[in-house]
Amino acid sequence: MSELDDFRRDTRAWLEQNAPASMRTPPKSSEELCWGGSKTKYPADVMKWLEVNAARGFTAPTWPKALGGGGLSKAQAKVLSEEMSALSLRPPLIGFGLSMIGPLLLQEGSDAHKQEHIPRIVRGEVRWCQGYSEPGAGSDLASLQTKAVRDGDHYVLEGSKIWTSYADASDWMFILVRTDASGRKQDGISFLLMDMSTPGVTVKPIRLISGASPFCETFLSDVRVPVTNLVGEENRGWAIARALLAHERTMIGDIFKEQGDRDKLLTAAREHLGEDGGRVADPVVRDRIAALEIDQTCLDLTLQRAKDAAKVGHKPGHESSIFKLVGTELNQRRRDLMCAVLGPQALGWEGDGFEPEELKATRDWLRSRGNSIEGGTSEIQLNIIAKRVLALPGA
Ligand SMILES: Cc1cc2nc3c(=O)[nH]c(=O)nc-3n(C[C@H](O)[C@H](O)[C@H](O)COP(=O)(O)OP(=O)(O)OC[C@H]3O[C@@H](n4cnc5c(N)ncnc54)[C@H](O)[C@@H]3O)c2cc1C
Repeated sequence: MSELDDFRRDTRAWLEQNAPASMRTPPKSSEELCWGGSKTKYPADVMKWLEVNAARGFTAPTWPKALGGGGLSKAQAKVLSEEMSALSLRPPLIGFGLSMIGPLLLQEGSDAHKQEHIPRIVRGEVRWCQGYSEPGAGSDLASLQTKAVRDGDHYVLEGSKIWTSYADASDWMFILVRTDASGRKQDGISFLLMDMSTPGVTVKPIRLISGASPFCETFLSDVRVPVTNLVGEENRGWAIARALLAHERTMIGDIFKEQGDRDKLLTAAREHLGEDGGRVADPVVRDRIAALEIDQTCLDLTLQRAKDAAKVGHKPGHESSIFKLVGTELNQRRRDLMCAVLGPQALGWEGDGFEPEELKATRDWLRSRGNSIEGGTSEIQLNIIAKRVLALPGA
């Protein structure tokens, strides 16, 4: 028996012994998962599941053991993920700490940053949000105006951010600020880590079309951030911001391929449109489902190839724009198709006459409209793919 087989056997036994039964059920939404942080109260089973996994480093399986991670090889991490899926287990922790700022700090942070932040991310103690967009700086992010002026060993921040997902539930923000306005706009940006409890930070939730308020406006007035919270060099934050976006776009592209949603679409199609010899009766819908599955499989394989490249040290680059573009548009196609299958049952908002799953399908469809905007719009991804991946000539 190989070492990897031993690892698989031990891991499965450990998971079976430690996972509360409620963690073996699919969550109704990502809100039921653990995002960590000090501002949200989670049910006891969620906390127990977080704590046992964090103690074993399984919330961040491949991060260094010395910083609280699992220290697993990529092959072992894949086994862990396979065993979690086989037992239908929920991830013990999700969020921007694990998917964005953690990988970025491991790549670009100082030793002090790693020591301070990585163990707290692994244990789910701190929830992070992303302060990039501003009212006048979305697609054209480099035009951002939030100012940071040096005053002794602090920066003093003045300005505002918008569309900050979960700012009201977060403990820390990674934020882009302008430290020099004299030259090329990309050259005067710095990347800071900001404690959300610093005096002068206020957040105001924004209500979305889906009824949820997952993001906020963030106002900064005379906010003092220690200079030691600068990641990389002053005025050189643009390269760091882009490295983080590569992590973000890969994560977004990978996030929507839940097998549960794929199964739900097929089940709903059979229930609402009938079966013909075990197949969905309507040939047009059957064709659309098949085309969707083929495209999803192609994306899954391409993502797997990128993950394999990462194993040999390849940092995520401009190809992450392909994952973001295709992953989010596939998700929108899936949500559109679900509503088409449900017909008038997809027109509910609340109240009697609709099953909870039907109401959820409507809200998921509405939420999916934002997928091709968040993390950089589809048009911007197409521009990047044209210029940086395909090296097409400019207009
Ligand atoms: C659900 C959601 C969550 C978000 N979470 C966060 C967050 O946590 N933190 C954060 O900082 N931001 C967040 N954002 C903001 C997001 O990054 C911006 O909305 C996005 O970058 C687009 O910027 P904008 O809204 O200013 O649109 P604009 O940049 O004003 O774009 C408007 C339209 O013009 C098009 N366009 C603009 N420039 C070009 C061009 N050069 N070529 C072709 N077309 C172009 C765009 O594609 C778009 O269709 C979130 C957004 C959403 C929807």
